Order: sequence, then structure tokens, then C-alpha cells
Amino acid sequence: MMPDSISPGALKSEDEHRRDICAVGHWLHQRGFVAATDGNISLRLDPRRVLTSPTNICKGMMTSDDLVITDLEGQKLSGRRNASSELAMHLLIYRRRPEVNAVCHAHPPVATGYAAAGLPLDKALLSEAVLALGCVPVARYGTPGTAELTEAIEPLVQSYDAILMANHGVVTYGPDLLTAFFRMETTEHFARVALVTELLGKQVLLSGEDVEKLLAARARYGLQTAAPTSAECPVTSDAASPDRVTLTRQELEALVEDAVRQDRVRR
Ligand SMILES: [Zn+2]
Repeated sequence: MMPDSISPGALKSEDEHRRDICAVGHWLHQRGFVAATDGNISLRLDPRRVLTSPTNICKGMMTSDDLVITDLEGQKLSGRRNASSELAMHLLIYRRRPEVNAVCHAHPPVATGYAAAGLPLDKALLSEAVLALGCVPVARYGTPGTAELTEAIEPLVQSYDAILMANHGVVTYGPDLLTAFFRMETTEHFARVALVTELLGKQVLLSGEDVEKLLAARARYGLQTAAPTSAECPVTSDAASPDRVTLTRQELEALVEDAVRQDRVRR
């Protein structure tokens, strides 16, 4: 039977970590965040070893002895299967973010839709998303399983905890596996709500002041996130003020021509 919860506490045995990865794989599959053998999950067992899902297996059907242990260079230390094909991306994140101990990669359909459209999830639409993620950028496309993919996410790893991967999927990470998984779930939820506001044709963004209050609450709750916030991220109602008008060059030229014409007529 598949596990449906993960073990409590931070200090866990290797067996508990193995069961936790299988539980998260089951959740990703159950929620439709991965299809077929998509996705991969890993956690840092200690400063030198990483426990990862294997390649070419449905993440909803893994058992503890399917998992693979590698070193931080990706060399297999134990396991009868081969390590995830996206392990290099996980290892980059562990190298760049010493406080990160778990990484989830999946293809949740709505967030992946935003990634395929090249659209970041960067608007202050949901208080919980501002608290947990700030905003979620889009990394440029890189062929899966190659150095291109690692190079594409590299500039964003330091500053974000969730990244949309263009024409591919989503990667999230955190101090423990449950946090990394929750960030995946929050990213997909955020994308679904953002899509509904697009369908409704109306978005009411939080103000800069609202976002400031959420950031103060984030510190109060002790939420650890690298997610930066600035005037542009997430985009607030102040930036998208109704007083501001955005025009294409063509529209601007048409307006200027029209004004000049009307001026000539008056003379
Ligand atoms: Zn993938």
C-alpha cells in the first residue's frame, strides 16, 4: 500500500526519508502534477549524500528500495536503479543553497501552462502566495537532462524558491521535503487562481502597503523563504494603477497623429 503521510520531526532515519520520498511521489501523481514517469524528488541525507527518485519509474508507484543514493557530484553510491535524469538540476540547487535539503520537480498542468506561455506568476493576487513564494519567475528553455537546463535555472536559484521552467514544468525546493512539496502545491494553486482571474477578465491586485504587511507577517511567522520582494515583484495595484496607461508604439503614434491633425484643423 502507498504511504499517504510523511513521518513527523526533522531528525529522521534513512528509512523514514525513503518512505517520505515515496509518499511525496504518490501525492504528485495523485494530484495530477506528473504524468507517466515524469518528475523527480530528492533530499540531502547529509553533507555528502543525496537520496533521489530513480529515472523511468512512475513517481506514484515507487517503493523505498527503488531509490538511489549519490554523492554531490552525481556519482551513484547505492541503489539497483539509475538516478533521476534531472539530478544535475537538483545538485546545482544543493550547491547554491546550503540551507536547502529537498527538491521537487513536476509538471503540474496550470503552472506548466504559464511556463509554456512564458508568463511568470508575479502578481500580488493571493495573500498566501505572497507569504509563501513572493513571485515565481520563468527560466528560459533548456533541453531536459542536459547542461542547458541547469544553466537556464542557475541565475534564478539564489533568489527564488519556486521556478517555472519554460516549455517544461516547475521546480521547488526548501529546508525539508514537506516544504518543497508544499511550494509545488502552492505554485499550482496560485496558477489556477491566476488563470480564473484571467478568464473573468478582471484582477484586483493587493497594494504595496498590503504586501508590506504580509512581509512583516512572514517574518513574524518565521517563514524562511528566499523570495525577494521589490517594487516589481510581486506586481501590486500601485504599479498597475488605473492612472497608468500602457500603449503600444503603434497606438501612441496614432494618438500623436490624431492630436496633430486636430490642431491643424483648429488653425
Ligand atoms: Zn520534467
